[in-house]
Amino acid sequence: MTELSVQCEQLHKSFGSLPVVNGVSFALQSGEILALLGPSGCGKTTLLRLLAGFERLDLGRITIADTLVADGQFHLPTEKRRTGMVFQDYAIFPHLTVADNIAFGLKQRRQQRPRVAEMLDLVGLDGQGDKMPHELSGGQQQRVALARALAPEPVILLLDEPFSNLDANLRVQVRREIRDLLRKAGTTAIFVTHDQEEALFIGDRVALMRAGQLEQIGRPETLFHAPRTEFVAHFMGQSDFVPGIVAADGIITAAGILQQTTGPAAAGTVRIGVRADDFRFDWSAAPNAVIVARDFAGMDNLYTVRLRDDTLVRVRQPHTEQLEPGAGVHIAFADDHPLPVFQHGINIA
Ligand code: ATP
Repeated sequence: MTELSVQCEQLHKSFGSLPVVNGVSFALQSGEILALLGPSGCGKTTLLRLLAGFERLDLGRITIADTLVADGQFHLPTEKRRTGMVFQDYAIFPHLTVADNIAFGLKQRRQQRPRVAEMLDLVGLDGQGDKMPHELSGGQQQRVALARALAPEPVILLLDEPFSNLDANLRVQVRREIRDLLRKAGTTAIFVTHDQEEALFIGDRVALMRAGQLEQIGRPETLFHAPRTEFVAHFMGQSDFVPGIVAADGIITAAGILQQTTGPAAAGTVRIGVRADDFRFDWSAAPNAVIVARDFAGMDNLYTVRLRDDTLVRVRQPHTEQLEPGAGVHIAFADDHPLPVFQHGINIA
C-alpha cells in the first residue's frame, strides 16, 4: 500500500469577507507530483501557503505524513511541518556560496557536508559549491533553490511558479530537468503554474482550481480528453464550442452530425467541445462554412471558420494548402475520438 504524504480535507480560508480557498479536499500519495493550475487570483498560492503554514486555516484539516498540522484551531509552525518551498524568484541568498545556501536549512553540522555534496550531485552542480549565486545562470540558480529545499528531506515540496523568471527556451529545458529530479528523489510535490502545457507535462495528476474550489483533479489525459465542465475544456487546450441537438442517430450541428451518443437524460440542446484538430475539410461536399481568418503557424495554418449558425471554430490544416478569408469550405467532424458534450456547462458524454 502506498502511504499518503498529504491529506487536505475541506480547507477554507477567507481574507476579510473574500473566500479564497473554499472547500478544497485532496490527498497525495508518497512520491506523487500534483500540478496545481488555474487563472490568476483563483487561490493557488494561498493553498500552498496554507500547507506550508504561512497562512492560518479557517476551517478544515491538513495532515502531512500522518501528523495533523492544521485545523480550525491548531496551527503547527512552518519549521515543524517538513515542507520545502521553491519560489519564482529563487530566494537564494546572494552573499552565501552555493554550498552554504544548500546547507542553510540543515541543523546538524555533521550532516551538512555529505548532504550538500549529495544535493549538488543530484541537481547536476557537482564541484560548483564554492561559486557565488551571481556566477550561475538563472536555470542553475533555480536548481540551487531546489537543492536547498530538498536538503532537509521534506515530506512535501511546494513549488510556486518556479520557472516564471526563465525565458521560454530555458523554461522548457529546466522543467524537464526538475521533473526528472523530483522523480529521481521520489519527492512528493505540488507545483503551481498558470501554464496548462507545463501542468500537463509535469503533473502525475493535475488539479484545476477556479474561484477557490477544485474544478477537477485527475490524470493529465483525463482533464484534457474528458473535462468535467466547459471551464476545464476551455482552460485545457483552447476549446471552441459547437451547439447541437441530440437526435436518435447522433448530435445534429451546423458542421454535420456527430455520430456520438449521450446519456439517456441528455435530450435537447448541447454544446460540443472541439479543438482545432477535431475537424477536417471535405472537398467532395458542398460548402457549409466560410473561412474568416488564416493564421500561418509554420507547420500548419490555423483557420478561423464561421459555420452557418454563426459559430466560430478553429481548424488546423497542413501548411501545404492555403485558403484565404472568404473561401467556402465543407468542414466535418474528424470522428477519430469521442468529444466532450456539455449541457448546462457539465460534460454528459
Ligand atoms: P496568481 O496566479 O495571480 O498568483 P493565485 O491563484 O496564486 O493567483 P492567490 O495569490 O492565492 O491567487 O490570491 C487569491 C486571492 O486572494 C486574490 O484575490 C488575492 O488578492 C487575495 N489575497 C491573497 N493574499 C491575500 C492577503 N494576504 N490579504 C488579502 N487578500 C489576499
